[in-house]
Amino acid sequence: MQKVKLPISVDPVRAAQKHLELDARIPKALLSRLAESTISIQSDIDTVFSFEVDQQKLRIFHGKASVAVELLCQRCNEPMIYQCDAEFTYCPVHNQEQENKLPDAYEPIYYDENGEVNLHQVVEDELILTLPQIAKHAIEDCKINDFELTFGEIDEEEQRPNPFDALAQLKRK
Ligand SMILES: [Zn+2]
Repeated sequence: MQKVKLPISVDPVRAAQKHLELDARIPKALLSRLAESTISIQSDIDTVFSFEVDQQKLRIFHGKASVAVELLCQRCNEPMIYQCDAEFTYCPVHNQEQENKLPDAYEPIYYDENGEVNLHQVVEDELILTLPQIAKHAIEDCKINDFELTFGEIDEEEQRPNPFDALAQLKRK
């Protein structure tokens, strides 16, 4: 079955009251910032959203987004496929005061002038945050695969792409 297209924005208050669940796609052509950060985006983006009212009566939403992208390996300079998997929870806010009171588990997101939040922007921001600062093939897949690298110490960056790069820091301010 063909998935529906993710609405660009929703009213999170109504969505939370209805416990709205979305299982939808974003056409890859719409995510120009992600496209600029990669060589190519391999497919449309799969997303899942669920809206709810939490125990403190805050309207929140959880989401997941995933897509494979092509990046340039910084070791051998050849393209590589990188799987982006983002998972997030947001709480829409109207002002700084509300933002300051949010529990740490929630990311703030501002309502737009229509009282809605932009889901496409959330997905794009979150996917960009999953990109490694330095893309590299797994050692066994890399063209530059000499004895030293294979038997050298495992580089931390390689094990875990950094979820908290500079962009993440900016976003949290
Ligand atoms: Zn490589």
